[in-house]
Amino acid sequence: MKVNTSVSVLVCKGMFAPLAVAAMFSVAALTADACTAIVVGKKASATGHVLIGHNEDGSGMFMRHAMLPPGDGKAAVFWSEAKKYAGGDQVGACVYSERGVFVVSNNGGVMQEWDGETFSLPDEGSYSVISGKGIGYDLRFRAVERARTARECVDIMIALVKEHGYNQYSRNFLVADAEEAWILEVLKGRRYVARRVPDDEVVVYPNCLVFNKLRPGDLASENIKSKGPDFDIIGFYQGPRTWKSPYNLYRWKEIYRIAAGVDLEPGAEYPFSVRPAHRISADDIKRGLRTHYEGRPYEVKKRHPQKNPKIIEPICRNTTVQSLVCEMNPNPRETTMHLTVGRPCEVEYGVYRPFGGVLPGDTAFGEKAVTRLVNHELPADARTVMP
Ligand SMILES: [Zn+2]
Repeated sequence: MKVNTSVSVLVCKGMFAPLAVAAMFSVAALTADACTAIVVGKKASATGHVLIGHNEDGSGMFMRHAMLPPGDGKAAVFWSEAKKYAGGDQVGACVYSERGVFVVSNNGGVMQEWDGETFSLPDEGSYSVISGKGIGYDLRFRAVERARTARECVDIMIALVKEHGYNQYSRNFLVADAEEAWILEVLKGRRYVARRVPDDEVVVYPNCLVFNKLRPGDLASENIKSKGPDFDIIGFYQGPRTWKSPYNLYRWKEIYRIAAGVDLEPGAEYPFSVRPAHRISADDIKRGLRTHYEGRPYEVKKRHPQKNPKIIEPICRNTTVQSLVCEMNPNPRETTMHLTVGRPCEVEYGVYRPFGGVLPGDTAFGEKAVTRLVNHELPADARTVMP
């Protein structure tokens, strides 16, 4: 496939962009989420601003993209989401606003136990707050369209979780603007921890919880803070069976090695963040997101195996429907996204500037985008007008 090195302008005018449709080649039931995320602080980045990398994984899914219109004080939002071919709700999305706020997430993995306040909320998948069953998929949208900075976005997300309760088991949100990045971990109910990514460090996470003990400066819910400074969040809610499983551990290890030049010992206690050996570029991140661990003793020779917690998983895998690297810029019109339509080992990254052709306050996105936004905020069975 020819390498697309030109910078193109993506303005959807309310339509899902044709570039956005990626084919999935396996729909086995076991091949659920295996997203991998990396975020680089501005002083660890070759650009001097925050860098983000993310592989979106989901079985039987395709990617679609839209531009949601501004209005009522809300910013226009570039929206890239994974949706099942078979219908049903959306499961994951990167959103980026014209004010320069970015959110993407990974499934945080299964929980092993709950404490005190048991979860009266069933796992409602991506049902919206409108369902009255807590907030889920739309948490990121409701925050990013209102926020002016990453920090403000985190505050809004926390306020929404406090108000409605989070209705999925766990999720790690990466919230960033050009100057700073945060990891916000939300557990079912009203539990959360948020930490600012150190400017001179890099954070990688697969599908497990990322916080062990709270640190000064963390934002945390009372039901976690009250357990004291030695409370082990990962250990209590998840345990090593999830975060130390080969399925997660080698993705964690290898992207640190390839993108940041830091070779961690598998099985050791993994830090929240590390200081990279060099300033990290978009190309460094792409190499990490493409890898099957070529040349390593544990190279995944069958490149895209089915999910199995007992085996080592590559970062580029059978369920990877999109790979994204985002070079954040203080001017959102200059923010550059590198996106693959499918697995990054098989297709080259295309280069886009979501707001490159959009004037501030542009309302010319059309009614179709509004309809999609309204539908998006409803449970699937309540949608009367399908996109
Ligand atoms: Zn691959």
